[in-house]
Amino acid sequence: MSYDVIVIGGSFAGLSAALQLAGSRRRVLVMDSGEPRNRFAKFSHGFFGHDGQTPSALLVKARSQLLSYSTVSFVDDMATHSAKAGEEFVVTAATGIVRTASRLILATGVRDNLSTIPGLQERWGESMLHCFIVMGTKWLDDALAYWRLAIALSKPPCFCRTGATTSLSLPTACLP
Ligand SMILES: Cc1cc2nc3c(=O)[nH]c(=O)nc-3n(C[C@H](O)[C@H](O)[C@H](O)COP(=O)(O)OP(=O)(O)OC[C@H]3O[C@@H](n4cnc5c(N)ncnc54)[C@H](O)[C@@H]3O)c2cc1C
Repeated sequence: MSYDVIVIGGSFAGLSAALQLAGSRRRVLVMDSGEPRNRFAKFSHGFFGHDGQTPSALLVKARSQLLSYSTVSFVDDMATHSAKAGEEFVVTAATGIVRTASRLILATGVRDNLSTIPGLQERWGESMLHCFIVMGTKWLDDALAYWRLAIALSKPPCFCRTGATTSLSLPTACLP
C-alpha cells in the first residue's frame, strides 16, 4: 500500500505533523527509531498544559490520540534510505521493508554529540542542560552557570546547576 505521506521521525515534530495530516484524512505512516532528543530528561517543561510530565508520557499520549484516526499507522523502525522514483518517494527501513508515499516529511531531530567532554553524557538532562525552559520549578532558585560549548553543532549554549556558587573555572568545575 502506498501512503499519502511517510513521516520519518515520530517524536514531537513528527507527531505534530502527522496530527495535522490525520485531520485532513491523509494516509500517514510514521516511522520512528525511538530516540527522542529529550529521552535523558526525567521531566518536560514549558509545554502548555503538560508541564512536569515525563517526555515519554507526552509521546505515548500523542501516539494514542493519533491512533484514533483510522488513516494513521506507526512502525518502529529506522529509515535507512529514501529516493524519489517517478512521482513517489521510496523509503527503505533497516528491516529491509520498502514503503512508498507521495510525500515525505523528515522530522529526524538532531543528535547531541556529548562524547568529547568527559562527564557530560552522564549529566545530560540531569544537571547539564541545553536550555532554560527545561528546568521547570526544580532549578528556579539555583545559581546557574552558562557555558557555550565549542562542540555544539549549531548554537546551543549549556546551563548547569552550581548550587550557591557563581565563581567557576569552566569547564571542569561546571560538572557538579
Ligand atoms: C536533555 C533535554 C531535555 C529537554 N527538555 C525539554 C523540555 O523540558 N521542554 C521542551 O520544550 N523541550 C525540551 N528539550 C528539547 C526537545 O527535546 C526537542 O525540542 C524535541 O525533542 C525536538 O523534537 P523533534 O521531533 O524535532 O526531534 P527528536 O525529539 O530528536 O525526535 C526525532 C525522532 O526521529 C527519530 N529518527 C531519527 N532518525 C530516524 C530515522 N532515520 N528513521 C526513523 N526514525 C528516526 C528518532 O529516533 C526520534 O524519535 C530537551 C532537550 C534535551 C536534550
